[in-house]
Amino acid sequence: MTGRLIVLSNRIPTGGPPSGGLVVAIHELLAARGGLWIGSADEFVEVPSETLRPIEGGEGYDKAVFDLTEAEHEEFYLGYANSVLWPLCHHRTDLLALDRQYADSYAGVNARVARMLAQIVEPEDTIWVHDYHFLPIALELRKLGVTARVGLFLHIPFPNLHDIEALPERDQFYFWLAAYDLVGLQTQADVARCLESYRTQPSGELMLNGRVKFDGDAFQVRSFPIGIDGKAFKALAEKPLTHDPAHIRADARLILGVDRLDYSKGIPNRVRGFGTWLEKRKPDSPRATLLQITPPSRETVPAYQAIAHEVESLVGRLNGQYSELDWTPIRLIERAVPRETLAPLYRQADIALVTPLADGMNLVAKEFVAAQDPEDPGVLILSQSAGAAEQMTEALIVNPHDAEEVADAIERAFMMPLDERRARHEALLQVVQDTDIFDWGASFLDCLNRVERRDGMPG
Ligand code: ADP
Repeated sequence: MTGRLIVLSNRIPTGGPPSGGLVVAIHELLAARGGLWIGSADEFVEVPSETLRPIEGGEGYDKAVFDLTEAEHEEFYLGYANSVLWPLCHHRTDLLALDRQYADSYAGVNARVARMLAQIVEPEDTIWVHDYHFLPIALELRKLGVTARVGLFLHIPFPNLHDIEALPERDQFYFWLAAYDLVGLQTQADVARCLESYRTQPSGELMLNGRVKFDGDAFQVRSFPIGIDGKAFKALAEKPLTHDPAHIRADARLILGVDRLDYSKGIPNRVRGFGTWLEKRKPDSPRATLLQITPPSRETVPAYQAIAHEVESLVGRLNGQYSELDWTPIRLIERAVPRETLAPLYRQADIALVTPLADGMNLVAKEFVAAQDPEDPGVLILSQSAGAAEQMTEALIVNPHDAEEVADAIERAFMMPLDERRARHEALLQVVQDTDIFDWGASFLDCLNRVERRDGMPG
């Protein structure tokens, strides 16, 4: 790579050292290679600037932000990105909040960010765009004459062909992606959905090895399953809990659920599955507590308010039905907990219940595996609909919609002999190590930089 690496993501860590796998990985990539990280500013403005604003804290690379107005936050971010593209990609077209104002704001912000990028990018630079907030960026850059390599990594699932049809901007959608040089997706299943959707387009043509021709442009589609910094997470998990583990576990076995409160995460179906297990439990079976840690997310979006009510009423009903004087079967914490607490909690748990209805990858599954004691590991119960299921085949894979199947998996996990738990954990840990977050970043950039430059120049 000869030129500068420019990373664009909606969030950029400001103040303090970065935490969280992806943010740390990007930070380390940029620290090693130098470059520029661009994200949205923390504070809203009345009139957004037409130039990027440098900020402090890059440590060996530069950081800059673009402005958003409060209306753009509502329409571009909460609106089009999170109430249109998010449900679309998570196969929930019933939740699409279609509003021309959202689409206009999304187009406007992307065009403005592209103009600011075009002011600073050189042909030999590489631009790495993250996620669904910026799908049109490459097309906007091409309109401005930018020939530098531009790659997109989509962290969430690629939508189904029939779902794309529900998008008023469905025709543009295909042009947006085709303007990239590389479209990176989480799984082979995502790649298959992407290729299938282009195959059905009159001007789409599939070539060999995931290359797609569309309306004269050619671009590459490939899967790069994201991972975590397994070593760092293990080290965090091995530190003793500041809380007394006996208090957390009481005299019950511990099942852990950890997710943002999002309808894609399948929390109600998980609670129902646990409820079915409670219902079928024999009088002498062990007690178990489901500890569900769920920070609220996108709280002003109606679909998120609805899921919060659904979870709270389900938990209340089941606790009312099954609690005893000295045991509450479900504990719901509607807050984030620090990673230093979360990691040892994973290690304490007998089971992680990871049951999304749709999920790009699901890093909680990988974190849980990294955190286990290999001598006495817990069991991962994983939805077939999580991207992670494509690699983590030694988990107990379940259909998240089927409460009986989830309940049976819980029972099987509790009964699983130590040898089997160890063998499954060993295989899963291998997957976590093989998909390290640092290799992920390097292999995406490697692939992007092997694509021929659009101006035909070498390098
Ligand atoms: P998503 O990106 O859709 O939220 P992932 O499973 O891929 O889902 O990543 C979630 C990240 O957020 C993980 O690193 C996880 O540890 C963290 N996280 C999720 N829930 C909590 C919580 N309650 N407290 C602290 N961290 C959390």
